Amino acid sequence: MGISEQLQAHLQRDFHVEHFSLPASGVDRDRVRSLGPLHAVVSIGGDGTLQGVSELVLNVSDNVLPPILIVPLGTANLVAKHLKLPWRRTRDIERIGHAIEARKIVEIDACRCNGNIFLAVAGVGFDAHVVHELTRRRTGPITKGSYVIPTIDTLRAFSYPKVTVEVDGKTVHRDAPALVYVGNVREYGTGIPMLPDARSDDDLLDICILPCKTRAQAVKWMLKAATGMHVRAEGAVYVRGHKVIVDGPSPVPIQLDGEAAGHTPATIELMDVRLPFIVQ
Ligand SMILES: [Mg+2]
Repeated sequence: MGISEQLQAHLQRDFHVEHFSLPASGVDRDRVRSLGPLHAVVSIGGDGTLQGVSELVLNVSDNVLPPILIVPLGTANLVAKHLKLPWRRTRDIERIGHAIEARKIVEIDACRCNGNIFLAVAGVGFDAHVVHELTRRRTGPITKGSYVIPTIDTLRAFSYPKVTVEVDGKTVHRDAPALVYVGNVREYGTGIPMLPDARSDDDLLDICILPCKTRAQAVKWMLKAATGMHVRAEGAVYVRGHKVIVDGPSPVPIQLDGEAAGHTPATIELMDVRLPFIVQ
């Protein structure tokens, strides 16, 4: 029995439970609305699944948003890591059940990039190229190892295009190659503190821009970022704001919480809602 069925069987002792499959566009929204106020929404999957669930929750709710409980089944699970959720996969059904009953809530500012919702970190450039390459080759579920070949290919082939970054109407980086990260939580990728000062409930986006025009510089920045020291290194720009525009002379790939999300120009903004999450 899969986690969804196990959890459903467990929760059905106390709740009416309905199961919906993503994509969010395929879910019968009238059916969800007809259920009335929801005690909780359970998102079973990774950060990509959570994007779909968040979109659905925002679309079917009027004023009060139901809290989301994440059962982290993805590869990175950035939001679950950020919330320090102690449950993992199928082992902790009882614990998940207790958390849903107790409904202890932490809120996270929701962000949008070109209309797509995300909750952790948006990347423009090198990292997004890796994600796009992985998506292009992907034939089934992915693991951390799935990133190796796309990363090697990106190191070999990425051209480090010029970008310009504007934060709240002010240009903070002009027409030069860079790695650009915009987001709301410090966790990124395999847990690297790419945005070390980010807070998920301060109504602000954190923006990190690392000038980078060669493979050697990209590797240097990744090694520095592993310790969080990159933001104090020469050339790094670290600012906060509400609205970020990344543009340039040629289209540059974008990734949102590890999901491929088109190319620049990118308009990244905080939404005027916080999503409630159930924590331990
Ligand atoms: Mg923030």
